[in-house]
Amino acid sequence: MDLKYNYSHLMNNYLPAPIEVARGEGAYLWDVNGRRYLDFTAGVAVANLGHSHPKLVKTIREEAQNLIHVSNLFRIPPQAELARVLCENSFADKCFFANSGAEAIEAAIKLSRKFGIEKKGGAHEVIAAEGSFHGRTFGAMSATGQAKIKDGFGPLVSGFVHVPYGDIRSVEEAVTEKTAAILLEPIQGENGVVIPPPDYLKEVREVCNREGIILIFDEIQTGMGRTGTLFAYEGFGVAPDVMTLAKGLAGGLPMGACLANDRAGDLFKPGDHASTFGGGPLISSVARVAVETTINDGVLENCREVGEYFMSDLREIKGEFDFVGEVRGKGLMIGMVLERGASDIVKKMMERGILVNLTAKNVVRFTPPLIITRADVDIVVSALRDVFLEI
Ligand SMILES: *Cc1c(COP(=O)(O)O)cnc(C)c1O
Repeated sequence: MDLKYNYSHLMNNYLPAPIEVARGEGAYLWDVNGRRYLDFTAGVAVANLGHSHPKLVKTIREEAQNLIHVSNLFRIPPQAELARVLCENSFADKCFFANSGAEAIEAAIKLSRKFGIEKKGGAHEVIAAEGSFHGRTFGAMSATGQAKIKDGFGPLVSGFVHVPYGDIRSVEEAVTEKTAAILLEPIQGENGVVIPPPDYLKEVREVCNREGIILIFDEIQTGMGRTGTLFAYEGFGVAPDVMTLAKGLAGGLPMGACLANDRAGDLFKPGDHASTFGGGPLISSVARVAVETTINDGVLENCREVGEYFMSDLREIKGEFDFVGEVRGKGLMIGMVLERGASDIVKKMMERGILVNLTAKNVVRFTPPLIITRADVDIVVSALRDVFLEI
C-alpha cells in the first residue's frame, strides 16, 4: 500500500498497520485520506474517554496557556489535586507520578526493595506471574513473565521469581524469607485477557497478610474504568498495598502513577526517587479531569452495560463458528480466543473500517473507548460475523 509520508527514519521496532492516522473523535479515527475507522483498540486501552474528548481538550487548552511545566523542586497544585482525587477514590493514601506504565512499575519495584530492606530484614525478591506484562524498561522487563519480551537483553535485573498465574499453591510455595512483594495484574492484558480463578486474588491477599509482604496490582491496563469499576481490584473485592496506573490515566497524554497505602506510601524519602516531568501541572490537570469524568459522566455504567451487551453477542458468535474458543473479559476488556491464526481477521476487519487488535498470538482483543454505544457494537459484531463467514 502506498503511504503519503516517509517512515524510513524511524527505528524498526514496531510493525504498524498501513493506516496513517490524522484525526480522531469519540470512537472514530480518520486517516490522511479521509477514510473513517471505528476504533475498538483505543490506543492500547488508552483513550478510555474516546478520542479528543471535549473536556480533556478544554483542560489542555486552558492549562497550556496557564503553565505547561514546572519541576518537582516546587509545589505543583494540580499534582496535589490529582493525588487527592485518586486517593479519595481508591484504597491509596499516597501517590507518585511518572510518565509511563514502565516507570510506574519501576517505582513500585523500588518501593518493594525499600520495604524489604527496612521492614523485612533485607528481603528483596518480588514474586510475579508467568505470562505477565509489566513494561520494557529493565526492572519492568525483568518482572515480566514472557520470554519473548526479554530474550536477547540479558543480563536482567535479579530478584524476580515467576509462578504460574492463577495457581495459589505455587504462590505459597514461592514465598520465602527473601520475599518482599507479590506483583500481579488483576486480569492479564497482554497475555490475552486472562482472568484468574474467582478466589485467587483474595487468597494472594491472605498470603501477603500472613507473611507480612506487600501486594502490588499492576492496573496499568485494567484501571481507569476499563473493567467497569474505576479500578479492577474493586470488582474482585481485594485491595492491594500498591497499585500502578498509566494508559488511560491522563486520557491519552503520557502519565504513569504508583499509588500506595500507608504500609508502603511513606517509604520514599527525599532523594530516593524522582522524575523530571512526572506530575507536571498540565498533565496532572488533564488526568484529574479524566478521572472525574470517568466517575461522574456515566462512563463506568456505560462500560458495564455495553460490555455485557457486547460479550453476549460475542458468545452468540462463538456458538456459530467452531474455530472460536473462549470469549472472556470484564467491562470493555474483552478477548476472543481463536483456534486458528488470527492476523487475517484483524486485516479483514480493517478493510471494513474497524480496528481491533491481536494479543497472545490468537486472541482478538477488544478494548474500545468506554463511551461506545450499542450501535457501535452492532457494527463490529456484524462485521465480525461477515469476516468469519468469509474465511
Ligand atoms: C501497557 C502496560 C504496561 C507498560 O506501560 P508503558 O506505558 O508502555 O510503559 C505495564 N503493565 C501493563 C499491565 C500494561 O498493560
